[in-house]
Amino acid sequence: MVDSVESSLDPSNWEDLRLLGHRMVDDMIAYLRDVRNRPVWQSPDADARAAFRKPLPHTGTSPEEIYRDVVDHVLPYPLGNIHPRYWAWMNGTGTPLGMFADMLCSGMNSGAGGGDQIGIYVERQVLDWCKEMLGYPSIATGVVVSGASIANFIGLAVARTAKAGFDVNREGLHGRPQMTVYTSTETHPWVDRMVCQLGLGLSALRRVPVNDAYEMDIGALRSAIDADRRAGRTPICVVATAGAVNTGAFDDLAQLADLCESEQLWLHVDAAFGAWVALTPLRDRVASLSRADSIAVDVHKWMHVPYGCAFALVRHPEVHALTFSQLGPQQTTRARAGIGSTSAEPWPSELGLELGRPMRALKLWMTIREHGVDGFAASIQQNLDQAAYLAEKIRSCAQLEVLAPVTLNIVCFRYRHPDISEPDLNSLNQQLLERLQDSGTVMISWVTMQGRFALRAGICNHRTRCEDLDFLVQEVQRVGGELLAARSTVAR
Ligand SMILES: *Cc1c(COP(=O)(O)O)cnc(C)c1O
Repeated sequence: MVDSVESSLDPSNWEDLRLLGHRMVDDMIAYLRDVRNRPVWQSPDADARAAFRKPLPHTGTSPEEIYRDVVDHVLPYPLGNIHPRYWAWMNGTGTPLGMFADMLCSGMNSGAGGGDQIGIYVERQVLDWCKEMLGYPSIATGVVVSGASIANFIGLAVARTAKAGFDVNREGLHGRPQMTVYTSTETHPWVDRMVCQLGLGLSALRRVPVNDAYEMDIGALRSAIDADRRAGRTPICVVATAGAVNTGAFDDLAQLADLCESEQLWLHVDAAFGAWVALTPLRDRVASLSRADSIAVDVHKWMHVPYGCAFALVRHPEVHALTFSQLGPQQTTRARAGIGSTSAEPWPSELGLELGRPMRALKLWMTIREHGVDGFAASIQQNLDQAAYLAEKIRSCAQLEVLAPVTLNIVCFRYRHPDISEPDLNSLNQQLLERLQDSGTVMISWVTMQGRFALRAGICNHRTRCEDLDFLVQEVQRVGGELLAARSTVAR
């Protein structure tokens, strides 16, 4: 027998790798357990930046050495959303078991686009559970994707198929009346990107104004639809928001569902994080989510599954399949040149854009099982209570004011002083935010509300405690006071 000359990319010594793997596990457990003791955020230092400007390696490096670089130059510089004092943007915190789920998923490395493999069944199971948690019709088809932006794209793409009035996939948009889409000024910017990517054009997007509660103005929506119809355009879809990123506002889903029914329009709801109030006493706000033709929901936000994990659900399985399948409408079943039985059909790759895809559903399944619906209900309720607590605390401080109704997990507020004019308040609060962020001790973001620069804390974090919010208020007052003092020194 001759020695084989072939080599594989597997380790030459499995035992060494096993030891290194165990160290990684120990390190990452400590990393998560002790996150509170580190800064929320710090900018990658010069060494770290330099570590990623190296020449292309032509020969291999030992896993131990590679891991050392990760420890030195990667792990200290996350975005910060795993930290208990992170309330910027809207991110999830992740969970330790979710981290291991990602390892198992990569270990199996089971391309979950299709084939009669377990990933398809895991995905169906979690989608069924999600439908049940959200009260969405069980007949709906769905697909697990990387984030709500992509899930929203799927909803909008299916809307285009359903309401174009011709076969968009075959004919394209060439020479047809413009299809128009309606959404509020508060909808997340994904909608601008996706109307572009769907070939509808930005000029097809109507940003309808909102009322004082930041909900879409339904009268204005009706007028916009009428105007487009009179101009010969084809209104196809209303994109509602359940839980807006700026303020947490919910559009009136029941009224919008009525309007879409009577106007024969598709109702898509971006419920990225807001959907999950279905698990709390605020569930009335999403009672009409079940009437939406499609919805997009993140699980890497309020469900804390590690990035990236989200799903789209569509209440009309035929149109969903028609949009993404290369099969003609008559060929919904056919002998497949793929692996295994037809019980795994439809394949996820026929319900979305990805063919090659990871088994993202596994981490969702493990996470849901670990905490159960009750665990998530309690965690989400805790954030709602914390937002109310923070708002109360801010209201009790003379130098602070709340700038928008706090009806969910988001608090918009600012530092103020009677002697400071509106434009100066804007620049003062902007400076205040920059100082806070640079300090690395708390992380919040900002939003402009009717011309006013607001500090924004979005609490989507299972590690946050009320004492962290006390600290935030204390820091805002401290830094605000310092900036104020500096200004009066300059003025003198
Ligand atoms: C976060 C968010 C999005 C975008 O979701 P990604 O998962 O980041 O792609 C869209 N809409 C709302 C309301 C969001 O909060």
